[in-house]
Amino acid sequence: MLNLTLSEVTRIVDGQLQQGDGSIPVRAIETDTRLGFRQNTLFVALKGENYDGHRFVNDACKKGACAAIVHQDMTPAHAGFALIRVKNTLRALQELARHHRESCQGKFIAITGSNGKTIAKDCCMTILGSRYHVQGSPGSYNSQVGVALSLLRIDPEADFNVIEAGISQIGEMPYLERMIQPDYGLLINVGVAHFEGFGSRQIIAVEKLKLFHNLPPEGWLLAPTDAVLTQALLAKIPTRCYQLGTDLALPSLTGWEGIGTNRSRLALHFPQKGTWTIDVHIDSSWQGVTGTVMMAVSTAYLLGVEPDTVCQALAQFNPPLNRLEIWKSQHGAFIVNDTYNAEPISVNTCLQVFDQYPTKRKIFIFGGMTELGTRHEYAHRIVGEEAARKHVDLLLTVGDLPHPTKIAFRTNRPSAQMAHFKDVSEATNYIESQAGSQDVIVVKGPRRAHFDRIVQRFKTLLSNTVFYINLPRIKQNIITFKEHIGPDVKMLLMIKALAYGADAIAIARYLENENVVDYFGVAYTSEAIELRQSGITSNILVMLTRPEDAEDIVRLSLTAVVFSSEMARALSDEALLQHKTARVHLKVDTGMGRLGVFPEQVLPLAQTVESHDNLEIEGIMTHFSVADDPSEDSFTEKQIERFQRVIELLQQHDIDPPLKHAAATAGIARHVSSHFSMVRLGLGAYGLYPSDAVKQAITLQCPVALMTRIAEIKNYPTGTPLSYGKRFYTSRDTRVAILPIGYHDGLRRSLSNQGYVLVDGNKAPIVGTICMDFTLVDITDVPQARVGDEVLIFGEKNGHSIRIETVAEMIGTISYEILCTLSARIQRLYVME
Ligand SMILES: *Cc1c(COP(=O)(O)O)cnc(C)c1O
Repeated sequence: MLNLTLSEVTRIVDGQLQQGDGSIPVRAIETDTRLGFRQNTLFVALKGENYDGHRFVNDACKKGACAAIVHQDMTPAHAGFALIRVKNTLRALQELARHHRESCQGKFIAITGSNGKTIAKDCCMTILGSRYHVQGSPGSYNSQVGVALSLLRIDPEADFNVIEAGISQIGEMPYLERMIQPDYGLLINVGVAHFEGFGSRQIIAVEKLKLFHNLPPEGWLLAPTDAVLTQALLAKIPTRCYQLGTDLALPSLTGWEGIGTNRSRLALHFPQKGTWTIDVHIDSSWQGVTGTVMMAVSTAYLLGVEPDTVCQALAQFNPPLNRLEIWKSQHGAFIVNDTYNAEPISVNTCLQVFDQYPTKRKIFIFGGMTELGTRHEYAHRIVGEEAARKHVDLLLTVGDLPHPTKIAFRTNRPSAQMAHFKDVSEATNYIESQAGSQDVIVVKGPRRAHFDRIVQRFKTLLSNTVFYINLPRIKQNIITFKEHIGPDVKMLLMIKALAYGADAIAIARYLENENVVDYFGVAYTSEAIELRQSGITSNILVMLTRPEDAEDIVRLSLTAVVFSSEMARALSDEALLQHKTARVHLKVDTGMGRLGVFPEQVLPLAQTVESHDNLEIEGIMTHFSVADDPSEDSFTEKQIERFQRVIELLQQHDIDPPLKHAAATAGIARHVSSHFSMVRLGLGAYGLYPSDAVKQAITLQCPVALMTRIAEIKNYPTGTPLSYGKRFYTSRDTRVAILPIGYHDGLRRSLSNQGYVLVDGNKAPIVGTICMDFTLVDITDVPQARVGDEVLIFGEKNGHSIRIETVAEMIGTISYEILCTLSARIQRLYVME
């Protein structure tokens, strides 16, 4: 927050205050009226190529701005609304930013380069943030206006401020330098000349380095080793210049290997300190990202963060989800989604992807690039030429920005198809009718234009049947349970059975990132291995462990549930071999009648475990059999009491495992005395209730929906038998929709002739026997239904819902079984809305 008055602002920007009171406080500065203003906000009217902020001065006044900075020729607007007149409103904004920067205590790190600035900034912030109070520019605010606004939002108390700086024209950098006044600098890379429109790489280098011409003597610059950065050029930097890849004083990357989608294992060497191996959430195919990551690692290292801390933080670094994500539909189409930002270099990188799919039909959907100033025309033309060179078969342009791209593409590849659309939703409709399994589709456009929506739609269209999983809703359900148990009780989330059909890896990855659970739980070691292989580093408790699993358990630092002395011995032997300590939870059978030792056997088992030096009893657990059933509450209370007694007995023998847990969904919701120090949530995370009594105790949201699309519609006269076994005869002229989903997919055959689905919100009964891949529904009463329409099988979507509990009841089973028997063939689609 700023702390200025209008008079001070007037002095800083060297302007003239007209109308209004100089003592009015100014707390914030905005250049856009669309979102309205907080109190005491000063509006700065900027003039761009196709935009003039002066047109919005009245709007700013109406929306509560306290004053405006305007060009000196602007005629006065409202009486009572203070105006500060200046020669150049952009420079005035920048002067204010510079003034605010000078009031900050912390150090400033400035990042520039041709691409990868935002990732470098995010990565720097993650690593430095593990040790210091760090702030950074929001998103990729790096232009003349963006940098000013980022600086104005900086909290003066932070230790470090990481600021991104981008230029699109010669001569712009000194303005950014004057505002940021960096203490340290990062030059990420020097891009390809023709994409930046600067003439030559040499000129790009000269211009970018101007950001660092006044670094203080105790500062430094990190730059790549690149022939274009000659000694003569670097001599202009008044302080120490480290060059990555050749300077032995910096950490270096000694290994980089892909270990699955979006996962890599890397080996980092720190001078004189040794080598660390860590797994990171970064795809190994991500071009150029290694250099960017090493910049961030080196920055933290030079600023005194210990290698251990650097590595731990880097392992947590998660670049935004939808950055260059390559998604393969089950029908074989590939979609390359890079809607994070669109600037020339990243568009070029994206187009390179086409090289990997020489035999596919190439579709490029392009929404253009913003903030290019005078380079606009040129940069867009280059994209058209490059798309032609990559043999794009179908170019779809959206909006007005890519006009020069179209022309260049048409000239260079006259035989290819082209189409143009006003906006994203028009384009999406068209693509839906065009895309097929032989396609590789690259989507690139400004995030602001909602290009990510195209990708969302694609994912659904390529597979008929989709199981939607709304991740934020799952998180919300977990938070609801956390509020129920209070802050002192830990949360373990059971993600056995593919996280009840939702896919354990995707769920764990999301929740680990959101930091809402303390532990994950799985049934088998094999499930835990898969989680570790896909980069999940959280605690994982394995319920059923066998001696032959000991090697994996110890190596992958899993926690084992132990209910036999053989298992304890196997773990101990293995831990000894691997020089590690294995954490175990003891399991007691207090009445469930399944795994676990009986209460009287717990003490001897605990003492056996204790006798092994490299085993640590971290927890003790039991499991309820009827916690969902109010008529059996006395049995559950007996289980709780037995568990309590076992704990006390161990305590009398100085064994006190910190994690004591018993409750699953039903116990958490219904038995407060069963929470102990941790709970194990399963079904409830998916918004389902084990029983009506649980439903009365807690309110959840449904995050899942199974949807398909009508494959065909047919009309049958009265008296026609339908499907196998002729188990249904039409009793009227009947309109039937054929759905591409059957019992193989998890739509239970016992729902034949009794279940229903929703078409456009209307009930359509299932008629005849459900087949392996097909199901028939009666849509006589839904005349508006068409082939291709979405059909809700169960769950909740677009305001319509069929409760999974209701479906389960119809066929005499429980919601758990419906959920976790969905076939792997069904496309899972995660939504983040
Ligand atoms: C499955 C399971 C849970 C979770 O049960 P929900 O009823 O789905 O919450 C908890 N503990 C153990 C041991 C389990 O097997």
